[in-house]
Amino acid sequence: MLAMSAVAGAVALFQAQSPAPKTLNIYVIDVEGGNATLVVSPQGESLLIDTGNTGAAASRDAGRIMAAANDAKLQQIDHLITTHWHGDHFGGMAELAKRIPIREFIDHGPNVQPAAAADAFLKDTYPELYSKAKHTVAKPGTRIAVAGLDVRVVASAGETIKNALPGGGKPNPYCANFKAGQNNAEDPQSVGTHITFGKFRTLHLGDLTMNKEFELMCPNNLLGTVDVLLGLHHGQATSNSEVLVHAIRPRVAVMNNGIRKGGEPAVMKVLHSSPGLEDLWQMHFSQLSGQEYTVPGMFIANATDEQPASMPIAPMPAPQPGDAASPPPAHNGAAYWIRISAEQDGTFTVVNSRNGFSKKYGPEK
Ligand SMILES: [Zn+2]
Ligand SMILES: [Zn+2]
Repeated sequence: MLAMSAVAGAVALFQAQSPAPKTLNIYVIDVEGGNATLVVSPQGESLLIDTGNTGAAASRDAGRIMAAANDAKLQQIDHLITTHWHGDHFGGMAELAKRIPIREFIDHGPNVQPAAAADAFLKDTYPELYSKAKHTVAKPGTRIAVAGLDVRVVASAGETIKNALPGGGKPNPYCANFKAGQNNAEDPQSVGTHITFGKFRTLHLGDLTMNKEFELMCPNNLLGTVDVLLGLHHGQATSNSEVLVHAIRPRVAVMNNGIRKGGEPAVMKVLHSSPGLEDLWQMHFSQLSGQEYTVPGMFIANATDEQPASMPIAPMPAPQPGDAASPPPAHNGAAYWIRISAEQDGTFTVVNSRNGFSKKYGPEK
């Protein structure tokens, strides 16, 4: 007995002395123009934002999320935010739940854009998934308890926060030039999340559209500035107004675009002219950018299964919704993530897992 407790005491001492992991890690996972972003706190608590695509892609995307979860040595997903009920955001959820326990399911409430697959999922599958876990309907201002982080919901179900976050609240000079945009019904319902770790701040607004960006940012910028802007609605032009992007002054943006989804000229112009932006990183080469607008390939995580010999200079026009045009080139083979590792002092490093290229961004002066 004495020997056993001595061993146990030695183990406890060892654990107390081993250094705590110091970084917040964020994996932006390639789900082909959908969203899956995995946030892992320094203590190993996890927050996954969205689960990729539905249908035949669900298994592939759940596998890609599991690759990131395994890299982070996770045994469970502590919190899952489903930003909204589009198939490129909740699609891999049921498949993922078979592979790893999910402890809390967070969403904006009912689907408001009738769609057979989403409505069937919400009626038949989702209640079963959260029956063994916690279910939270997020409201603006809701705090999600993640050890070591301050995680706040800033938008949900079409509502936005009314009080400024710390560092926010100043008049937004970009409001005067705002032009309202078009949108479908579900995108503006997106759960938007602001995360603070020490001096490091990041924002993921799901597919929140321009008109909601205006509500969040005008007349006063309620968010302040961020180090990293995540997602960007796949880099589509129904979001990403200057009212948001230029006012929050991200040092780095990571766009979850697809090969022919997002990255079109209007959005690339906003990003390339964004004050203080040091780099844009992308999930994919976008044919909608062409050489004219794209960032250098070293900042891009994924190409296609069969790479073309060259990419045209001119951007390809964005396909119309419901277009019968040929599908984008396939990317079902090896997929790569972009990982952000942030420290308490605001320093962060971004890594492209395809080519190993990494860049360190020192604390803000
Ligand atoms: Zn891909
Ligand atoms: Zn989307």
